[in-house]
Amino acid sequence: NEASTEALTAAAEAHTAHNYHPLPVVVATADGAWMTDVEGRRYLDLLAGYSALNFGHGNPRLIAAAQAQLERVTLTSRAFHHDRFGAFCEQLAELCGMELVLPMNTGAEAVETALKTARKWGYQVKGVPEGRAKIVVAGNNFHGRTTTIVSFSTDPEARADFGPYTPGFEIVPYGDLTAMRAAVSENTVAVLLEPIQGEAGVLVPPAGYLAGVRELTRERNVLFIADEIQSGLGRTGRTFACEHEGVVPDMYVLGKALGGGVVPVSAVVSSAEVLGVFRPGEHGSTFGGNPLACAVALEVIAMLRSGEYQARAAELGEHLHRELRQLTDTGRVTAVRGRGLWAGVDIASAVGTGREVSERLLDRGVLVKDTHGSTIRIAPPLMISREDLDWGLGQLRAVLGV
Ligand code: PLP
Repeated sequence: NEASTEALTAAAEAHTAHNYHPLPVVVATADGAWMTDVEGRRYLDLLAGYSALNFGHGNPRLIAAAQAQLERVTLTSRAFHHDRFGAFCEQLAELCGMELVLPMNTGAEAVETALKTARKWGYQVKGVPEGRAKIVVAGNNFHGRTTTIVSFSTDPEARADFGPYTPGFEIVPYGDLTAMRAAVSENTVAVLLEPIQGEAGVLVPPAGYLAGVRELTRERNVLFIADEIQSGLGRTGRTFACEHEGVVPDMYVLGKALGGGVVPVSAVVSSAEVLGVFRPGEHGSTFGGNPLACAVALEVIAMLRSGEYQARAAELGEHLHRELRQLTDTGRVTAVRGRGLWAGVDIASAVGTGREVSERLLDRGVLVKDTHGSTIRIAPPLMISREDLDWGLGQLRAVLGV
């Protein structure tokens, strides 16, 4: 374990596909909101695994739950029941105010599951003619990387050269209710949206948009699928970002923080009418709902039930946004968006690119990641202390030269 950052980075770059462009840091250990690299340097983690680490690195409750389960049983496949499965489904459904749960592993798998569910519901319940189901999505969406999901991406990087593309999707501008209304037809089975668009740069839709989509979808007998994979589970100061507009969708798609950054756990959560469309053999996953995943997720659900992480994200988030808003007065930042402990910060071109700002923050012991050229995203673990957050914001001010 004596190898340097340079040697380890070179080894990785020599043998991995280059589908990522990581910052030049090699993490060896992590604890709470902090990571330590192979050379012993410490970094404040303001990315939190793209919101998978809402409860912090090495959260003692999650580690204890995982360790206890490792000693018992880790995988049964869904060929058999296991003793964590019922509790997991029951408690996740209850947290969501829904009836049924279909567990998968990654976010993209859960989105795929939601799309398949909506189509099946469309044919079997709504009565859409076979092969005609349409799903309306938003421009600048990010829902994952499978061939079907990139088929309705508007990002050329994500989409180009991966065709032929899956048909059956219509893309409308995010936040535009009129365009959404025009796109919904009698064969529309679902609208799929991120309540806040994460990868697009933490874009919060105009006030009333989600409520408007809820009203429209209810009127037209269309399922409202909320992809809360990044926005959900405490990040915005509520359990779900939809709650900020008093909206309850027909289906939640969850991932990331559901596994606490320990194991991949995702799920679709919905009503008995909707998820009830599946019969044995029609969908599944070898690892979906495995005992280890369920044990960790049960602890995640218990932590969310207390409300303390949501409250913390709301309170510290207000502080974060107050501080960030002041930066827009300096001209070094052109816009700040977000909700709770989640922010997209657009860097003025005079300062440098988002990548350059991320690299300078790295040199100062702060980890963030750029998105779309000029934006950096701030999404610390929700258990970060106010002192650590303020220290990180101080480093950002230093990099911006204000
Ligand atoms: N949906 C949203 C809103 C996401 O932010 C992400 C990941 O960033 C995904 C889906 C895909 O999740 P995964 O990378 O686990 O497949």
